[in-house]
Amino acid sequence: MTKFIFVTGGVVSSLGKGITAASVAALLEARGIKVTMTKLDPYINVDPGTMSPFQHGEVFVTEDGAETDLDLGYYERFLRHSKMSKNNNFTSGKIYQSVLEKERRGDYLGGTVQVIPHITDEIKRRIHASGEGYDIAMIEIGGTVGDIESLPFMEAVRQMRVELGHSQSLLMHLTLVPYIASAGESKTKPTQHSVKELRSIGLQPDVLICRSEYPISEDNRRKIALFTNVEERAVILCPDAQSIYQIPSILHEQQLDDLICQRFGLQTNTADLSDWQAFTDVLLNAEDSVTVAMVGKYVELPDAYKSINEALLHAGVANHVKVNIAYVDAERLETENALMDVVKNADAVLVPGGFGERGTVGKMQAISYARTHGVPYLGICLGMQLAVIEFARNVIGLEANSTEFDKRTKEPLIALITEWFDEKGELQVRSDDSDLGGTMRLGAQKAELVEDSRLRQIYASPTISERHRHRYEMNGRYIDTLQDAGMKISGYSAKQHLVEAVELTDHPWFIAVQFHPEFTSQPRGGHPLFNSFVQAAIHHKAQHANDKQPTAEH
Ligand code: GLN
Repeated sequence: MTKFIFVTGGVVSSLGKGITAASVAALLEARGIKVTMTKLDPYINVDPGTMSPFQHGEVFVTEDGAETDLDLGYYERFLRHSKMSKNNNFTSGKIYQSVLEKERRGDYLGGTVQVIPHITDEIKRRIHASGEGYDIAMIEIGGTVGDIESLPFMEAVRQMRVELGHSQSLLMHLTLVPYIASAGESKTKPTQHSVKELRSIGLQPDVLICRSEYPISEDNRRKIALFTNVEERAVILCPDAQSIYQIPSILHEQQLDDLICQRFGLQTNTADLSDWQAFTDVLLNAEDSVTVAMVGKYVELPDAYKSINEALLHAGVANHVKVNIAYVDAERLETENALMDVVKNADAVLVPGGFGERGTVGKMQAISYARTHGVPYLGICLGMQLAVIEFARNVIGLEANSTEFDKRTKEPLIALITEWFDEKGELQVRSDDSDLGGTMRLGAQKAELVEDSRLRQIYASPTISERHRHRYEMNGRYIDTLQDAGMKISGYSAKQHLVEAVELTDHPWFIAVQFHPEFTSQPRGGHPLFNSFVQAAIHHKAQHANDKQPTAEH
């Protein structure tokens, strides 16, 4: 039977609940336990697909095409043996949606539909379903205890704890122990209050994970245990680490994995964290560095590009260098020369995915520079579409655009493909209506890589599977024109024969892909495309060591 670890948060948000939960899961996996993870989000949106990255950070896309919370990205990066799916993230909105659908269908005929039991039953049903087939399912509840919004989730957890019993469920609560500089002390009171708040809704935590800026004293550990009714050894101290990937080891040093296994009666091997150790050793000790200019729209909020940041970090480790990311605001790049210097001083340029016209001119300026100066360029999704448009405009001389930015463009290099014939010759239609939720090409799809392409060399495979999240496609009518001018199509989607990737043949490293390779990058090993990109940046840096300005590092 699956055992459940519920993870709640207190005091303040943004304590890194997702990362901590993922670290616990990684630690359990290192003991050979089959672990999965699920995130419950208390907001009303049905999924985060239509939310701005400024609101919510990146939208993480699962293999089966769900648009999910970015915490699922951490879950996949920390776990090797468990892939996330649409069952691993649900919101209050989604719960209400399915309860309301049932109500309209008449499933509750005669009854009054209420939060308890109807909403809570639906939550419990989904939690149970998400854990099927695993030894342990970790369930992270978004928000902070005391929020009105998360109450139905908390109530479902309370009921499940009673139903499952002590040996099948565990409640882990993450809190903050702030350091008050003027008093020179760490304060345990917020943690005490947060646990009190939990108890008031019938939840007594079994484990406390105390986040803090500085190390917490043993005295404070004892004090927290005493005031919160939690065993002393179950008060886990988690001061800020240099890297999030050290957290599994930090938790292991305090024997959190032993405690969980004893509680659940699981006989397992001891944890083998040697691969994490090897990864963090390289990460924290890399001496050389390269700088990648990331030209995007949401540069003030690095969470908006979380998976790309992580993929670059992983690729750095794979190449034994530190990768610095110089974020460049694409819109400001259009007018500010100083920002163009940032691009010029970088060892490589990356344009990530994005929606809407704002900033596209700046992005194309950066692409132009990379293309004409032999600077390694990686384009992702919109970063590919703009690379194609830039090339068509400046090399071929077409008045090219995407219909996303100009509906009536003369040369629609990028456009909505609403109809196509599938491999069985059947006409498929993609809806192109005003409902912006779920009308995109989403999730993992197979692509075939062209025989003598660099991309195929990099992946060392003729077919790949990568995740998508976009509405527009490269227009097949322009394939010959582009190829004749030197932009090679290096991959096509297996099903619809849509363009998946392009590359420049007479450039040291210029590759742009319609899919999102960042979603599948793993710390332990990296991703072939990012590894190769960073390698190209190292090479570029070595070759151009003398022509950089002294401000090259950002
Ligand atoms: N806006 C583009 C599209 O919808 C690109 C999307 C993206 O970069 N994820 O096709």
